[in-house]
Parts: sequence; C-alpha cells; structure tokens
Amino acid sequence: MLSQVSIEHHVSSNENPPMHTSRSFAAAVCVTTLLLTACARDAAPPDAAAASVDPLSIHRQALTLDTHLDTPMWLSVEGWRIEDRHSVADDGSQVDLPRIEDGALDGGFWATYIPQGPLTPEGRAAALQAGLTRIGEIRTMVETHPDRFALALQAEDAARIAATGRHFVFLSMENGYPLGLEPVALLARFYDLGLRMASPVHFLNNDLATSSTDANAAGLPGLTPLGEQWVAEANRLGILIDASHASDAALDKMLELSRAPIILSHSGARAVFDHPRNLDDEHLRRVADSGGVIQVTAYSDYLIANAPNAERQAAIRDARAGASRTLEGRRAQQAKLREVDARYPANRASIDDFINHLLHVIRVAGVDHAGIGLDFDGGGGVTGLDEASDYPRITERLLAEGYSREDVEKIWGGNALRVLAQAQQLAGPAQR
Ligand SMILES: [Zn+2]
Repeated sequence: MLSQVSIEHHVSSNENPPMHTSRSFAAAVCVTTLLLTACARDAAPPDAAAASVDPLSIHRQALTLDTHLDTPMWLSVEGWRIEDRHSVADDGSQVDLPRIEDGALDGGFWATYIPQGPLTPEGRAAALQAGLTRIGEIRTMVETHPDRFALALQAEDAARIAATGRHFVFLSMENGYPLGLEPVALLARFYDLGLRMASPVHFLNNDLATSSTDANAAGLPGLTPLGEQWVAEANRLGILIDASHASDAALDKMLELSRAPIILSHSGARAVFDHPRNLDDEHLRRVADSGGVIQVTAYSDYLIANAPNAERQAAIRDARAGASRTLEGRRAQQAKLREVDARYPANRASIDDFINHLLHVIRVAGVDHAGIGLDFDGGGGVTGLDEASDYPRITERLLAEGYSREDVEKIWGGNALRVLAQAQQLAGPAQR
C-alpha cells in the first residue's frame, strides 16, 4: 500500500461537498482578446471520435508539462539521484528521470519551496539563503545532465528543448518568504538566476500576502503594500504570477493589479470539494476572463473529504521526526508512514476524483484555461496517479471523455505556456 501521507498536510474541511457530475450543453461563450480565444466555456467535449485513437501516442506527441514539481526537495537527499529509478513505495519520491521518461513528461516548473517561518530578520535571512541554495541545486541538476535537461527561460524554449529530446526546466518559487522585506530587489536577483514563475505566499500569511489556509487572514487586505510592489515587479520582469495558496482576497488583488494574466499552478475546484485551497466557480471564471489558467492538483486532501484524526496526525509527526537527509533515512521513514496508513486508515483520493476536479475546471473556466500541476513530491499523488510514470493516464481519461487531441495539447502545456508567453511579452523592455 502506498503512503497516503501528505507533506502539505493541514486542516481539511469536514464538509461533504456537492459533486458536479452534470454536463452543461449551454452555448459556448466566446471571448476574444488580443492573444487568445476562449470558446469552450460550458461546452460539451466536442470530439467523441478522439477516444478511438491511441492515447499513449497522443500523449507522447503532445508537449507536456507539470506546473508544480516539488522534486527539488529531493536534490539534497544524500544517496538519491535524479538519474536513478526510485519508487514511491520504497522511498516516497515520485519523480526522477526514468519515471519522467516513462510518463513522457517533456518538462515542468521545478519549485524552490521554502516553508513559512518567523517574520523576523533572522527568519527572513535564513529563508533567503535556503531559497538561493535550492535554486542553485536545481541549476546544478540541469548543468550536470546537459544531455537530459535544459534550463528554459522563455516560453518558446519549451518546444525547442523538447525537440532535442531533453526535458525543459523552468524555475519557480513557491512562497515569497525568501524575498523578505525586499521583494523588488530580490525578485530581480532570482530572475537573474532563471526564475520565471513565483507565488507570494504558502500556508501562512507573510510580508506579501494572506494565505488561503491562515485562520488569521480574514478581514486583512489580500496583499500588503510590499505584496503590491511584488506584483508590479513580477510584471516588469515577466515573471508569471502564481496565486495557488493565496487567499481569495489576495487572488482578487492580484487579478486587479497584474497587467499580465496569472496562473494557479496547483489548485482545485471548490464546487467539487469545498476547501479553501480550491477556487469557487466565480474565481475560476475571473481567472479565465483575465486570460489566466488554473492547473489542477492531485493533492488528496484538496480533492476529497477526510475526517480529522488526531491520532493519525500525531503518528505522522512521529514517523517524520528525525533524520531524513539520506536515502536510507527516507526509506525507513516511508516504511513507518506505511505502518501509520495501515493503523489509522484515511480516505485517499483516486484518479477519478482528480479527473472530477479537472473536468469541472474545464467546464467552468474553459478548455483554454485549464492545465496540470499535480504537486508530486510536495504531497500530491492519488491512487492511480502516484508517480511521474502515471502521467499518460490523464491523457487517456481526457480522450475517453471526448476531448480532442488539440484540447489535450492545450491542457497539457499549451495553455500554461501561452500565459507565460503573455507575461513575458508584457514585461519591461529590458526583459524582452
Ligand atoms: Zn503547494
């Protein structure tokens, strides 16, 4: 049995959410803007014949990317190497080169994620150092495997690199904590290191924004004045703004202030499961109306309900305590987590639940505004979608639902790359 344990774990909603299974055949509303046409809103999947073609070959031919890979957290684990084949059952990791190739993933956004710590000079300084170290580790991974990876800096680099048989690596930042009280100067510094997508906040409110999961966020402005400066600087640099984890108020403010469309790199649909990390239909539409994209996560606690279980949580904390900086340590930890699962079983979402969220986002936001960001190695992964080799199952399911090859290509990468390209086109002259 695979571990159901989530790294991102926090309080889940207890509500039994309404499931959206009905399909609307309402007429499509077409919104034409300068750079895109969004016509599939509320439309039925158009091409039932597509289901008869070979899903794996369509998957392999599409330019595929995952917008939220937390795999960089493994790069400093002693004895774990990106080029080796691992398994989630053995050490808990979900992405490595052999599995990326099994899953025909062309590339993705590799996250520099720094957990929120104290908003003190020491805390901010440590976060900056950790962020610089992590982004350096990702760059080293690319530089030491030049035949397998290449750093992508412009949206169009993705197709160019994939055509050479290598995997493109965009650099992203989850949580603006490392930017501390200098978001403008430090965002530019990270841009120079290759950063092309960034989110302001994670589980807790910080110097920039309020978080969807911080109990103290209510009533506060979504963005602080520093957060507003962060938006302007991200726009100026052409860094794609990622609103996953942000509170609704922060998302509203980013939509209001950003000159470029924004992304939610790993989120779900609140109408399918009512969780603050997910977007309600109004926000799905507003992100789409602004030209943005919602990438759907495979993080179980955001997909389905699970009753809180204090004993399970305590057992998970125990299992995680102690050494995990080595591969052997991770294996031992994974074995303990499996015991926790056996002793305190929890609901684990399946690929069906993930697909429910994805289909809902497609129906409400439109096929031009949905994508894939599974949160592998950050707590993502559901039964049937456990590791990178499982990516083709998403394509198989979309084709079975009647989506066309063109739709699949948009969902797998075309939409996210379009939004990145727009952010880059709207950047200041020095960045173009
Ligand atoms: Zn996350």
